[in-house]
Amino acid sequence: GRMTMILDGKNTAALRKERLATYVREEREAGRDKKLAVLLVGGSAPSEMYAQSVRRVAESVGMEVVLCRFADGTPQAEIVAAVGDLNRRVDITGILPLLPLPEAYNTAEIINALSPCKDVDGQTTVSKGRLFAGEPSFAPCTAQAVVTMLIDYDIPVQGKHVVIVGRSDVVGKPLIHLFLQKNATVTVCHSKTTDLSGITRQADILVAAVGKAGFVSADMVKDGAVLIDVGINRVDGKTVGDICTEATTKAAAYTPVPGGIGALVSTMILENTAYGIRE
Ligand code: NAP
Repeated sequence: GRMTMILDGKNTAALRKERLATYVREEREAGRDKKLAVLLVGGSAPSEMYAQSVRRVAESVGMEVVLCRFADGTPQAEIVAAVGDLNRRVDITGILPLLPLPEAYNTAEIINALSPCKDVDGQTTVSKGRLFAGEPSFAPCTAQAVVTMLIDYDIPVQGKHVVIVGRSDVVGKPLIHLFLQKNATVTVCHSKTTDLSGITRQADILVAAVGKAGFVSADMVKDGAVLIDVGINRVDGKTVGDICTEATTKAAAYTPVPGGIGALVSTMILENTAYGIRE
């Protein structure tokens, strides 16, 4: 049978965290702290969990996380002002607002209060515009993790047909630009796409960001394709992706769930916080 390569997000993250830990320590010793501020408003359970997991990963590379907690009901202006304070602090080099904010808030105003050079999850309109224009900027970290995985496993992208299923602001849309920059031919599909499987079968690299367990079936995949599964779905107490197991057996390489893209995302946040915007 075919050799299928597993694109291991944990291992990729571990290798990157080694380099990152050294850099963070050297910079701190040179008087340049690299701290991540996490903005938590209201504290929903998923946001709390994400904040704790980012903090754990940050600690493992010797990076300090400053948790900025606000109770639901804190005035909008107070949060915007707090973001301004974080922008001015030289020891804080990354700011991560955890979304969604409670409904009453004007999310765009709070996000766009971030200085683009500290917008480590590429959430501001300025970062999105720079990404679109091909200028140096931060990109949403999940999208960044997808591209990083391919780079670290030396999977060529140039000239390949990349098909992305899902057009969200955090995954599908930024990936259009990240892949175009790498000279891929990019197709984006969504819930209104006609003949979805006819398109996905053309993919050399297929990215699934749908949010439906096992959505991509074996008949939707070309033999020897590279499968990138961004989905995180809970089924019977287990975490599964958007790509079913039978489909992965046809692949040349695939990202498992868990342990694939999701395992790499917080490392991207920390890299952005430490290294800043890279060319
Ligand atoms: P989302 O905002 O819910 O978007 C889902 C996309 O899938 C939409 O563009 C939707 O199309 C499309 N879609 C839904 N049903 C479809 C169908 N039958 N055929 C074709 N397209 C269909 O999703 P998201 O935020 O990008 O997240 C997607 C998945 O990735 C989720 O499982 C999420 O948990 C996971 N995720 C993981 C990470 C991480 O690894 N840290 C980060 C973000 C997301 P329309 O636009 O037409 O509705």
